[in-house]
Amino acid sequence: MAETTAGFTRRDILRFATASLTLLVTPLARGGAAPTLLAVRVWPANIYTRVTLEYSAPLSQPLKFTHLLLKDPDRLVVDIEGVEFNSVLASLPGKILESDPQIRLIRAGRFKPDVVRLVIELKGEVKPQIFSLKPVGEYSHRLVLDLYPAEPPDPLMALLDKHGDSASVQPGQKPLRQAEQPEIQRLVTVVIDPGHGGEDPGAIGRGGSYEKNVTLAISRRLKAKIDAEPNMRALLTRDGDYFIPLNQRVAKARRVRADLFVSVHADAFIKSTARGSSVFVLSENGASSSAARWLANRENSADLVGGVNFGVKDPHLARTLLDLSQTATLNDSLKLGRAVLGEVGNINTLHGGRVEQANFAVLKAPDIPSILVETAFISNPEEEARLVDEAYQDKMANALLAGIRRYFAQNPPVARSKIARLD
Ligand SMILES: [Zn+2]
Repeated sequence: MAETTAGFTRRDILRFATASLTLLVTPLARGGAAPTLLAVRVWPANIYTRVTLEYSAPLSQPLKFTHLLLKDPDRLVVDIEGVEFNSVLASLPGKILESDPQIRLIRAGRFKPDVVRLVIELKGEVKPQIFSLKPVGEYSHRLVLDLYPAEPPDPLMALLDKHGDSASVQPGQKPLRQAEQPEIQRLVTVVIDPGHGGEDPGAIGRGGSYEKNVTLAISRRLKAKIDAEPNMRALLTRDGDYFIPLNQRVAKARRVRADLFVSVHADAFIKSTARGSSVFVLSENGASSSAARWLANRENSADLVGGVNFGVKDPHLARTLLDLSQTATLNDSLKLGRAVLGEVGNINTLHGGRVEQANFAVLKAPDIPSILVETAFISNPEEEARLVDEAYQDKMANALLAGIRRYFAQNPPVARSKIARLD
């Protein structure tokens, strides 16, 4: 690796030097307690690519960094102070996939003593967010580089792209083909939310399976089945291995004016004998059991593990917390929950006989009936083996679909003007 230039043109160096001169001359307090890079991870996705640098910080000081965006071609340059260039950092360039939507390649090298430079060559313009995370769960300190495309992909467009023809079905129009159960007379949108993702693996089974992978596999199957139904379509909150904050999952569902929101998870408990499926809805006033409260706390901690940039105000947050006194929505959530629990009970033992309630952050859309399904216990070796089995994932997706259909059959969707909006 080039000692000083790390592949820069002279023009870059001049521009960069002007911008960061003051920082580069600041000496660092060291003395044997320097941070050391422990791991680097890259999570590419259409909505953003995340690069995570995990490091030990004996003095609990977050890494100091400066960054600079350059044009023609688009690049992001990040200088990190006080770390040595080691083999962990040297492995970063090799972790960039050719298919990464944002990053073309990364160069990393020692720029000066005590300063490591990353040059991220981009595929287009990005709006970076760079921030530090304190140790949580299994993780030590993290420096996170989130690269958002300057032109963010639109979830509404994603729906239209994939369902060009069906999106033009008008309210009251006959369905394209007969369903076996009562027909749904207008196009309904189900948002499926595969729990966890990216930095947040969710629960980990004794056999090494990650909840985030199981939830995505089941959710993808469910989406395909919903899309094959007349007058139903589905959107995934994530369709890859990356992290999305809980409130953004809710915001995405509201953005496409979803009729239903189904969050897919796999449970875990200290005792490996715990087993069975559960369905949860939101509770505004306390949990229906201490286990439900415990679980909601664990699921809500996804934001800490996954890594939210709390320095950025989320404009959606205020809106999703607006009005939780929507008892009509909650009643519908309970109906949906019972319908799904009934169907899931046909393929797996139920952990409890009823729909449970707790304060799940991801169920807080005030106007969309929402449930969270703990498909099975990934901490139970027998259920873990089933959760990673494709045939069982398919069975679970069928059960979820049957529950959703049963709900719509008993609670036909009312006409809305939203189809026109989607057109
Ligand atoms: Zn979960």
